[in-house]
Amino acid sequence: MADTGRKRTTDKEGLKGKQRTYKREILAALFIILLVIGVAFRVNQIFYGFDLPEIAFAGSSVAETEPGRGQDAFRQSDDWRLVLVNRDHPLENVFGGELTELRDGAKVDARIYPDLQEMFDEMRAEGLSPRVVEGYRTSGEQQKRLDSKISEYMGYGKSREEAREMALQWEAEPGTSEHELGICVDISSEDADNASANAVWAWMDGNCSRFGFIKRYPREKMSVTGVRGEEWHYRYVGREAAGEITKKGVTLEEYLGAVSK
Ligand SMILES: [Zn+2]
Repeated sequence: MADTGRKRTTDKEGLKGKQRTYKREILAALFIILLVIGVAFRVNQIFYGFDLPEIAFAGSSVAETEPGRGQDAFRQSDDWRLVLVNRDHPLENVFGGELTELRDGAKVDARIYPDLQEMFDEMRAEGLSPRVVEGYRTSGEQQKRLDSKISEYMGYGKSREEAREMALQWEAEPGTSEHELGICVDISSEDADNASANAVWAWMDGNCSRFGFIKRYPREKMSVTGVRGEEWHYRYVGREAAGEITKKGVTLEEYLGAVSK
């Protein structure tokens, strides 16, 4: 009897022990579930929360920049379509690629030709008559353009220094013109008539990003680009970047994080 009683007691104690074990297991399971939810929430916050634009930006193939360090931290992109050339960022390498000569004699980097051609085909199909006036230029050609503009101003009685300063508002210093990259074009119309040229530019403004081009010097962005508005100058950056730049309404400088702070 005593044995049985003890046994019963033992069984009861065993049952209580099992119940305690279940409680511990349930608590442990709850703890793990909460932990998993917590981690998932944090991961979600990191990848899909406020940090998204920065992460997406850093992940795209643009130059790496560190916030707050200004343009000194700017590094050129490895992507040939996103190389920045302006007065603060002179050309690092002389163009050495293949050029394609267009019907009117202008030349462009052969790599942008297919998109340029497709864009012109579509424009012509819509009744417009675009023409590439300027494409690739050597530094020597850029120097000649600047010299001739300086002479023009000196002809109006300006000193060489004054004339040079004025000329630089229209012509870039050799080594700092995007035309030396071979991936931008100055576009007008076949007859260079104001109305038809305006129609071409209006079409370009609404459609060029689909073909990888951006309007490089919008009038309202002169403080950023340092260049007067140029309706005619379009730069190739590739379709993906052109889409983003156009959607955001920014300049190439802003897109690449190369604006002085
Ligand atoms: Zn131009």
